[in-house]
Amino acid sequence: MTQERKLIVLDVDSTLTQDEGIDLLAQYVSAEAAQQVETITARAMAGELDFAASLTARVEALAGLSLADVAAATARVRLSVGAQVLIDCAHAAGHLVGAVSGGFHEMIDPLASELGLDMHRANRFETRDGRLTGRVDGPIVDARTKEETLRKWAEASGIPMGNTVAVGDGGNDVLMLAAAGLGIAYMAKPVTRDAADRAIDTPDLSLVLDEVGIPRV
Ligand SMILES: [Mg+2]
Repeated sequence: MTQERKLIVLDVDSTLTQDEGIDLLAQYVSAEAAQQVETITARAMAGELDFAASLTARVEALAGLSLADVAAATARVRLSVGAQVLIDCAHAAGHLVGAVSGGFHEMIDPLASELGLDMHRANRFETRDGRLTGRVDGPIVDARTKEETLRKWAEASGIPMGNTVAVGDGGNDVLMLAAAGLGIAYMAKPVTRDAADRAIDTPDLSLVLDEVGIPRV
């Protein structure tokens, strides 16, 4: 029997990819900045800090970085094991796969095109003369935005919320995991596991296929 069409929405940092993109970027500023940003990211993902405020502080630490640095950091992002398998098998079964991220379009756009994602949304760096100003361009994609984006994509695709799947690891994924028909915590922080219907504790994103009941092709 064919499944009804589903919408699978993935978080990016530490879910679709093994890294936190902003931590990789901060390494191009200085060792001190990298340490500082990494500490804030870890606390934000554990749900200990307000995401938007913590993101503002981290992006400030990146002021002056060139877009060439952003491209170099992007090239170092490692996809999660099983990411392409998940997307290809979901597509083969007629489902849609999107990614919504509190990270940045500048780093995620190349991944989205490489992986063949159907839709993606993230923050944007404000830039001037080829360098980051240290500010976010436009409203910040936070936990609430992630949930709203899931709902918006489901509606636009004619897929009932009951047929949506959200996958994430961090504190800013809690609302979208709770809103989805099936919320899956992936290698997740405790706060995220508590909000999820299921948890995957093995670093292989293709295990989402088994949780959703999508055949491997
Ligand atoms: Mg994450």
